[in-house]
Amino acid sequence: MQQSNQTKKRGNIALIAHDGKKADMVKFVMDHRDILNNYQLHATGTTGQKIAETGLSNIIRYNSGPFGGDAEIGTLVAKGELDMVFFFRDPLGKHPHDPDIATLMRLCDVWEVPLATNKSTARLLLKNFASE
Ligand code: PGA
Repeated sequence: MQQSNQTKKRGNIALIAHDGKKADMVKFVMDHRDILNNYQLHATGTTGQKIAETGLSNIIRYNSGPFGGDAEIGTLVAKGELDMVFFFRDPLGKHPHDPDIATLMRLCDVWEVPLATNKSTARLLLKNFASE
């Protein structure tokens, strides 16, 4: 895990995007940069790298998804350390780590952590959360 120097901010948001949705995630991050800058961000490896390239530095990166990153994010959910999860899944792709993905989504439901699986839902959730 690579840790940023930023301290915890208004809350913790996890950001994950499958390869087919990484462009969506980068656009989402750039469109909501000012809001996201107020939160501690957590991301799987490659997603985190793409987000860091947009200039945001308030991000903790975990393993890449196929190497356990989704499971690590799931652990954060189970430990009550995340306020929201934005997981832009590619519904048309096959993923070797499908069991980890299912576990992460299940844990969000177990612990009632808001989960957005596409950018439209993520936009609504973030606006609502930021206005609280
Ligand atoms: P990645 O992992 O950010 O390392 O690509 C995401 C995933 O495939 O779940």
